[in-house]
Amino acid sequence: MSSKQLLDQLRVDGDPKLDDRDAADTFGWDRDEAEALFAEELVELVELQKRLFADKSASLLVVLQAMDAAGKDSTIRAVMSGLNPAGVMVHPFGVPTEEERGHDFLWRIHAHAPEDGYIAVFNRSHYEDVLVVRVKELAPKDVWTKRYDHIRHFEQMLADEGTHIVKIFLNVSKEKQKERFEERLERPDKRWKFRAGDLGDRALWDDYMEAYADALEKTSTDAAPWYVVPADRKWARNVCIARIMRNHLERIDPQYPEPDSDIDFDDITIP
Ligand code: AMP
Ligand code: MG
Repeated sequence: MSSKQLLDQLRVDGDPKLDDRDAADTFGWDRDEAEALFAEELVELVELQKRLFADKSASLLVVLQAMDAAGKDSTIRAVMSGLNPAGVMVHPFGVPTEEERGHDFLWRIHAHAPEDGYIAVFNRSHYEDVLVVRVKELAPKDVWTKRYDHIRHFEQMLADEGTHIVKIFLNVSKEKQKERFEERLERPDKRWKFRAGDLGDRALWDDYMEAYADALEKTSTDAAPWYVVPADRKWARNVCIARIMRNHLERIDPQYPEPDSDIDFDDITIP
């Protein structure tokens, strides 16, 4: 499958129809093939990031949203592994602090939007304010319903100012989440990831899917498109995410700056 066909399939345009999407989709690749494709994509990403960093005329924001154990952390580890860490900022957004709660919901987000030359990755984001907040009724309905508009406008503003935005929903199945939770319980080195609240969120699975479907439909725009990436198989997921990022970096088309015209590069000797 070509990159374009893949991206068209993953891209959200209207109702994301989450029920019809296969969380275990592999797009015809086996594991070895996918790992080889991923390695090729990483080479391209490394070069594009170098150019982005040198050019400093635009930035990339990658928003990652998902249920627990969908693989947000391992996505960041895998996909960012080859990149220059000096040019990547990863920001996790957890339960807001008291100070953050005292401000509008975008206040803590805006401060972490990337500056020119940088890639920012949000591990959760302002979308929690129309997801967990909606599902658990942490704010009144008339407050969170207005947030879709606020989010669209905020993201359009960032785009207009030079930030390219891609938003990725890691679509894990409920069965795979169970498997990964069980692994977290069994393996001492993974227990720290398990929180009591995780089971509460799992019990509200259908409500979350409804909230996700609504958020994706209302906020997938040309300036900030959503992609639904099947997340049950990490190796297929990695190819999808690398291709999405590559595509958006290619749209930025960053270039190395012109060298200093006062220097005659062929005729210079370093004393
Ligand atoms: P994790 O990403 O698994 O470390 O967990 C972070 C937790 O913070 C999740 O349970 C989120 O639902 C929660 N969280 C993130 N943003 C918000 C928010 N704006 N309001 C309430 N809870 C949030
Ligand atoms: Mg968690």
